[in-house]
Amino acid sequence: MTDQELTALVQRISQNDFQRPFRHSVRFNRRLRTTGGRYLLKSHVIEINPRFTEAFNQSVLIGIIKHELCHYHLHLAGAGYQHRDRAFKQLLKQVGGLRFAPALPDQVTFYQYRCQRCGQLYQRRRRVNLKKYRCGRCHGKLVAVA
Ligand SMILES: [Zn+2]
Ligand SMILES: [Zn+2]
Repeated sequence: MTDQELTALVQRISQNDFQRPFRHSVRFNRRLRTTGGRYLLKSHVIEINPRFTEAFNQSVLIGIIKHELCHYHLHLAGAGYQHRDRAFKQLLKQVGGLRFAPALPDQVTFYQYRCQRCGQLYQRRRRVNLKKYRCGRCHGKLVAVA
């Protein structure tokens, strides 16, 4: 999904569920870690974490967009736009937005090593101390492979 397609979706949800236009910009931000999105108070920009569109179906994305639009519309209206505010909780419930984004599936990184002597490949979840560990087949020296 492109930023343009995302913008069209946000505008549609804003009109259908909030009966108000979305006049600012929305973009994907891959630097967001575990949060589904965020609303920037100064610029009124909404940022969406693209990992959630990759890991889940569109109902999760829509739930995240509704959550951010609650911040957006309440903030612009001068109402309580923070998570603890009653107005926020009520509007979120009314439009069916997500309170919390679901946990992303583990992003597992593997460290890879190869035996210099026999070529056997090893994948480990943790970094291996190459001074201590040798190849299990031939006892050769291991080297890290990028
Ligand atoms: Zn929020
Ligand atoms: Zn070996």
